[in-house]
Amino acid sequence: MPNDFELIVIGGGVNGCGIARDAAGRGLELAVIEQGDLASGTSSASTKLFHGGLRYLEYFEFRLVREALRERETLLRAMPHIAWPMRFVLPYHKAQRFDVTTPAARWLGRAMPWLRGRRPAWVIRLGLALYDSLAGRQFLPGTTRLDLSTAPEGGPLQDRYTKAFEYSDGWVDDARLVALNARDAAARGAAILTRHKLTAATHGPQGWTVTLDTETGSKTLTAKALVNAAGPWVAQVLSGPLASDTPGHIRLVRGSHILTRRLWDHDKAYFLQGTDGRICFAIPYEQDFTLIGTTDADHTDPDTPATCTEAERDYMLNFVNGYFKTQLTPADILHSYAGLRPLRDAGTGAAASATRDYELVLSDPETAPALHVFGGKITTYRKLAESAVDKLAAVFPALPEAWTAGVPLPGGDFEIGGAGALAEGLIADYPFLTPRWAQRLIRAYGTEARMILGDAQTAADLGEEFGATLTEAELRWMVTREYARTAEDALWRRSKLGLHMTEAERDAVAEWFAKSAPVEASQAA
Ligand code: FAD
Repeated sequence: MPNDFELIVIGGGVNGCGIARDAAGRGLELAVIEQGDLASGTSSASTKLFHGGLRYLEYFEFRLVREALRERETLLRAMPHIAWPMRFVLPYHKAQRFDVTTPAARWLGRAMPWLRGRRPAWVIRLGLALYDSLAGRQFLPGTTRLDLSTAPEGGPLQDRYTKAFEYSDGWVDDARLVALNARDAAARGAAILTRHKLTAATHGPQGWTVTLDTETGSKTLTAKALVNAAGPWVAQVLSGPLASDTPGHIRLVRGSHILTRRLWDHDKAYFLQGTDGRICFAIPYEQDFTLIGTTDADHTDPDTPATCTEAERDYMLNFVNGYFKTQLTPADILHSYAGLRPLRDAGTGAAASATRDYELVLSDPETAPALHVFGGKITTYRKLAESAVDKLAAVFPALPEAWTAGVPLPGGDFEIGGAGALAEGLIADYPFLTPRWAQRLIRAYGTEARMILGDAQTAADLGEEFGATLTEAELRWMVTREYARTAEDALWRRSKLGLHMTEAERDAVAEWFAKSAPVEASQAA
């Protein structure tokens, strides 16, 4: 592998890998360096929505909402295996009061003081009409009304909720989105270096020299320019290794999620409004579960692992218990996770009110060019990457035009809604697959699922089966094509199969990694 690049991208999250894919496609020779696994930071801990952010309308964040809404369909088209449209049910009743200080609430309070914190249906409908109209939708259906006393979506809800609106957004497997961007960047020439931590960077007449800690020692690389896409660590990288005086205010806001057994049969999600101005999602997850979240809590140090606190857990339980008939207790929680939002914000006001928009800052373009990424949503990662690489034209003047809109990610070269037919085709050619197994493979790998199955005639041809239909052939794919190096990478990021396995099964995967992964990795393409 060469040690000299035009560009080094620090951070293997959605923004770093998105920028790498875009830049590699425009011909830049680059490396992504990631201190842990791909998506081991915030990009595997999100609510996993391609959404405009209905809540951000309360804060009049029209630029962000518009960009994100318009981007949803482009993204859904480019990855119909790992992302799909989802309908959201927003229940309401007349007596609901919202004790909030958002700009929209203050405006309503002044314009219509008689509402006294209530949100009549027409106000919610107006917000959703704005959401629909900002979106420029081509295939996502618009908002409709639901009579919860007759519609199946009313079944799980308490009887006082008789009315709801239903609107569209999208769902995405966030960690796989990162891995697929990294793969596509690599297919266009990028080097993807996981378990490589930036510890020092100096700049001389020849450009940047960066020092990396690796599992086996240290390594030095050079590049003309850097991208600092270190997410929650962006300010730390700025003031530490880069020793830059570029202002890097960042507010870390933790968000947690809890998982319970599946709470309803249909495939729609719920958008629940809290009286505190926050909202909470309850989403069908991984076939057997319901995903509930999230929270907004200030967090000081990116190196202190984010975990769901008892207070956050109880807050989310109370939230959903105010809506659903099933009353959940801590004993119903099967799993939880938390992540840090790296928000561009001075740190005043409620954490929930901090802007979710992003900012790109190019420092020292003439002498020591480095582009710093502050903030950013999963939903805006492709647009952010386009803008980031456009900005790098100041350093690399002959860069071609942006190209990623309309180009599918690996395995995503089929029509939206085509996953069912692909799964059926897979079963026809590999009759040993169960429908659930085939569907899972298509949802993870799309048209590339066939490359994992190869010429297998029986399940045994795929090697050891570890549980939850995970076979050695699939693990080999994750190692050789998707940079997985540990059982945790495979079970909690390249897949979520850890959720469906027993501890003994997970241990067997860890043993396989200890024994076979180094051999497989050495044969990686
Ligand atoms: P990260 O994913 O954190 O990547 C940065 C990477 O840099 C990390 O992997 C880290 O290990 C690496 N790094 C740091 N320092 C170094 C170093 N010195 N050397 C090498 N590597 C380094 N967005 C949406 O669009 N939809 C949602 O539903 C949504 N839900 C969210 C829910 C929660 C609770 C949170 C926290 C965020 C949510 N977001 C959502 C926002 C979105 O997840 C983040 O904005 C996005 O993942 C940030 O990606 P990133 O690449 O900037 O950061």
